[in-house]
Amino acid sequence: MDSQTIKKLNFDFSGRFYVENITDRKNRSILIKTNTLMDYEKIKEKLAPCGLHCGKCFAYEEGDIVKYSKTLKNNLGSFEVYAKRFVDLLDKPVFEKYPDFKDMLECFAISDCSGCRKEVCKLFKDCKVRLCSENKGVDFCFQCPDFPCENTGFDEHLYKRSININIRMKEIGVDNYYEEIKNKSRY
Ligand code: SF4
Ligand code: SF4
Repeated sequence: MDSQTIKKLNFDFSGRFYVENITDRKNRSILIKTNTLMDYEKIKEKLAPCGLHCGKCFAYEEGDIVKYSKTLKNNLGSFEVYAKRFVDLLDKPVFEKYPDFKDMLECFAISDCSGCRKEVCKLFKDCKVRLCSENKGVDFCFQCPDFPCENTGFDEHLYKRSININIRMKEIGVDNYYEEIKNKSRY
C-alpha cells in the first residue's frame, strides 16, 4: 500500500478489525483484507481464553503433534525388533533408547483433547480462566475490565505468558495475533 492510500478501518470489541472502506487519492476502492465473524469463531476454537494456542498443544486431537505422531507410529510398525539389531549392526547405542521413544510417541498419538472451548484443560487442572471468562462474558482475558487479574490459577511462568499474549492480542487484534503465531511451535 502506498503512502497515498487512505484507510478507514473499524475495530470492534473483540479486537478484530474489518475494512469499512479503503480508497486511494483517485478515489479508487481497494480491498485489502476482510475478516468475518466466521474467521473469528474459527480462531477462537484454536485459542483458549488465556490466549494459549490449543491448536499447537501436544494434547490437541486435531493438532499436528497428534497427527504426525500417529503417522510416525504407523510407519514405524514393529521397529523395536530392528532397533535391537541396529545397536550392534550399525554400532549405534542410541537405538537402545527406542522403547522410551516408542512410549513417548504412543503418548502423543493417543492424546485426545478437543480444546479449551469445548472441555476443561487436561494440562492445567487449576486453570480458573476458562470458567471465569464464561462468567464474565468475554472471549479472551484482555477483553475483561479486570485484566490483568490474579484470578488465573496459573503458576508464575504461565501467568506471565498469558498476560503477554493478551497484551499482544489487545495491541494488534485477535486475527493478526493468530496470523503471527499460527505456524509457530507453542513450546
Ligand atoms: S485445553 Fe489444554 S490440554 Fe486441551 S488443547 Fe488446550 S491447552 Fe491443550
Ligand atoms: S477476571 Fe481475570 S481470569 Fe477472569 S476473564 Fe477477567 S482477566 Fe480473565
